[in-house]
Amino acid sequence: MTRTETPPLRARAEIDLAALRANVRALRARAPRAALMAVVKSDAYGHGAVPCARAALEAGAEWLGTATPEEAFALREAGLHGRVLCWLWTPGGPWRTAIEADVDVSVSDLWALEEVREAAAAAGAPARVHLKADTGLGRAGCQPADWPELVAEALRAEGDGLVTVVGLWSHFACADEPGHPSIASQLGRFRAMVAYAEEQGVRPEVRHMANSPAMLTLPEAHFDLVRTGIALYGLSPSPELGTPADLGLHPVMTLKASLALAKQVPGGHGVSYGHKYTTPGSTTLGLIPVGYADGIPRHASGTGPVLVDGKLRTVAGRIAMDQFVVDLGGDEPAPGTEAILFGSGEHGEPAAEDWAQAAGTIAYEIVTRIGSRVPRVYVNVNAEQVG
Ligand SMILES: *Cc1c(COP(=O)(O)O)cnc(C)c1O
Repeated sequence: MTRTETPPLRARAEIDLAALRANVRALRARAPRAALMAVVKSDAYGHGAVPCARAALEAGAEWLGTATPEEAFALREAGLHGRVLCWLWTPGGPWRTAIEADVDVSVSDLWALEEVREAAAAAGAPARVHLKADTGLGRAGCQPADWPELVAEALRAEGDGLVTVVGLWSHFACADEPGHPSIASQLGRFRAMVAYAEEQGVRPEVRHMANSPAMLTLPEAHFDLVRTGIALYGLSPSPELGTPADLGLHPVMTLKASLALAKQVPGGHGVSYGHKYTTPGSTTLGLIPVGYADGIPRHASGTGPVLVDGKLRTVAGRIAMDQFVVDLGGDEPAPGTEAILFGSGEHGEPAAEDWAQAAGTIAYEIVTRIGSRVPRVYVNVNAEQVG
């Protein structure tokens, strides 16, 4: 949901597009020789794909990246230009739509190359293909043993005018653990697989391997293009790499809710389903009107932090589908008082990383899972504004 008018009072995710543009500029400065791809898969990690993609292009990103074809086509339907690479394909494509929408496709295997050839012949135009190498992640990509055949077939299709091999690429397994031995091993394998393809006659426009953590920690992995997702949204890929501020990044999403109720209760009162929390004495309870249907992780029951009326509170008892409770320790803020679950930290609010730790997950998941029932409200929308 995309709104710019006055938001509803229950809850909202404010998306600061000036922060996003500043992150793009900061990232470009760190990889000056590489082009920047703004990875906007999964609705831009929950931030809203079209507004974020547009802001990233305004700030100097040349490429957009998506997982599914539908995500890529939605960018074109919104009128966005710039290069788009889409990498998560299953039999049936739709490859022809990608060719006609000017979307670059990733190919890891012969079945995909064959479908691309057929679609290009039907479309009467070549497909732009990035051949993906599995250099050690063990997920998508072509194994080194199968690479010569994939390269040969791609060159044959290129000779037939059905594909243009514009990219050679791979993806890291452990870039968020600097020094992990797989990093050097994957880089070495990538260099060898690129060298082989080039010896055979592939002339790639871009060779690319770096996600956000590799982009931030490993300049030798920048090659011609860096694919940044999480850093674009102002979050650190891992606490091991530092906080967003340490990395010069500005968190883009602030999740707010409106306090629905504050009431006095006696000591010994059970709170929420299962009575996993009992008031230690007479106190006040506050009702926060968001729950797991909104993407608030139920695993953060009893641990998630919230800033209410300038004070940090903790989820009391279980997070339910639509709401949870905090112990306000005797304070009685007015209903409608703003509760901030996470944001930039500018007002003392928790960070997405704090919720990740409370729920035993990563900050990526915290922002990406915020539900469609929470309106995204865009602030600092115009490129001239400075956040
Ligand atoms: C999601 C993804 C990225 C971006 O990863 P971040 O760690 O968020 O920067 C890059 N490349 C591929 C293939 C991805 O799936």
